[in-house]
Amino acid sequence: MTVIDEKKLLERVPTGLFIGGQWRQAASGKTFEVRDPSTNAVLASVADASVDDGLAALDAAVDAAHEWATTPPRVRGELLRRAFELVVERHDEFAMLMTLEMGKPLAESDGEVTYGAEFLRWFGEEAARITGRYGVNPEGTGRTIVSQHPVGPCFLITPWNFPLAMATRKIGPALAAGCTVVVKPASLTPLTTLHFVALLHEVGLPAGVVNVVTTRSSGPVSDAIIADPRLRKLSFTGSTPVGRSLLAKAARGILRTSMELGGNAPFLVFDDADLDAAVEGAMKAKFRNIGQACTAANRFIVHASVAEEFARRVTEKVQEFTVGRGTEEGVTIGPLINQDAIEKADSLVKDAVSRGARVLVGGSAIEGEGTFYEPTVVTDVAAGSSILTEEIFGPVLSIVTFDDEDEAVRIANDTEYGLVAYAFTRDLARGQRLIERLQTGMLGLNVGVVSNAAAPFGGVKQSGLGREGGFEGIHEYLETRYTMTPDPFA
Ligand code: NAP
Repeated sequence: MTVIDEKKLLERVPTGLFIGGQWRQAASGKTFEVRDPSTNAVLASVADASVDDGLAALDAAVDAAHEWATTPPRVRGELLRRAFELVVERHDEFAMLMTLEMGKPLAESDGEVTYGAEFLRWFGEEAARITGRYGVNPEGTGRTIVSQHPVGPCFLITPWNFPLAMATRKIGPALAAGCTVVVKPASLTPLTTLHFVALLHEVGLPAGVVNVVTTRSSGPVSDAIIADPRLRKLSFTGSTPVGRSLLAKAARGILRTSMELGGNAPFLVFDDADLDAAVEGAMKAKFRNIGQACTAANRFIVHASVAEEFARRVTEKVQEFTVGRGTEEGVTIGPLINQDAIEKADSLVKDAVSRGARVLVGGSAIEGEGTFYEPTVVTDVAAGSSILTEEIFGPVLSIVTFDDEDEAVRIANDTEYGLVAYAFTRDLARGQRLIERLQTGMLGLNVGVVSNAAAPFGGVKQSGLGREGGFEGIHEYLETRYTMTPDPFA
């Protein structure tokens, strides 16, 4: 790993809006600060776009739409491939930038660069595989041609927790499909997106194909873009309440939408599980990204006969964590994103304890610089505790018990969310039953991480609509058109 000088890296990251292939300041000249959550130090000041800036970005995406849609798929794919190669070459820079603005330990940022870059490679390959079909209609009186076409200008809104991967998971398939885009990263972590878009410019992406607006007024700016009849698609990753309100707004223009929303993942450990594998999977599913992942295991539902042993083992592992600034060697748990996140995790733990839960380790915010929370294990969590119904989004592992499979499935499905579930069992038939019984978009069967660029990521119920990645991902950005022609022999 190359040692990256933080200051020199930050000097190279653009801080303007990227519109029509040009960097520019916000029309108002306003900026806002981006801070390091582990020290609260200001990292950079970036342009604070207004509604007019947002609409200027949409103008640029609309202007570039036809030319990009008619650019040969192979050319689109090769641009994405070059972007993939350059992200890989600058791996350490992207990792450092994410750790600075979001806080995760460098080793985890490193993993996200690999994962995020993979969407560029995967969708670069998919660009040339957009196909259709030709058929004789059943009566033999005509021919049907089914073809795929880019949806049109897209608005992509991304969250702060995976600054690179959430951007490439949308930009990759949109560009491969022939769509132009306006991207709005989270105001807490805009730097990684800005650095990535500078790279897209460098590999030769034509002006207007990707535009970026950073703003502290995400509501008004997004509302104006979504209300514009030239927009054809909204893709959002973030919380369920914001997603729900954006869906209502998108309904006015009957926009195509993709919604990657919140989760409340159950993590089932059966009495026949390989406990070593379950503990290892639990640590990944819970503590990756400091627990701030939509895929984070939120409820550990453990068979009563192994619950004590499981709790003891995960507690031992948690005691081995080193909490600190993500840039420092040996640190395994970084800060939470801000004070609100600390307060939320803390109030959920306190509520569980007030209903009889026991804290085995941790359970408090860490005083001093930055927003750190102790890695925590709580067990004997009572039904009805808020920690079982709300996304914790912090390093808190909470355990409830069950006695048989029916009860485990009932508890697992007892949520409005349905993004991902995890289950550990050695019984193959049980594993197959769980695939059919769990209400989820994704299932980690004896594994603690499900994300993969080649697989369709997404949820059911109030966790969202649509899929990102896999063969499915590009179809979120394609419209199906069908053409009827006469029987050529008639
Ligand atoms: P969030 O508050 O919903 O914000 C997500 C994005 O929406 C940010 O860019 C935010 O910008 C923007 N936003 C906020 N209010 C908006 C509004 N009224 N109109 C338009 N845009 C608005 O979520 P978050 O706290 O960043 O991310 C955490 C959530 O994302 C969790 O619930 C997590 O489960 C979910 N998530 C889901 C997936 C998935 O694939 N299913 C992946 C990652 C995260 P500003 O913050 O700058 O206002």
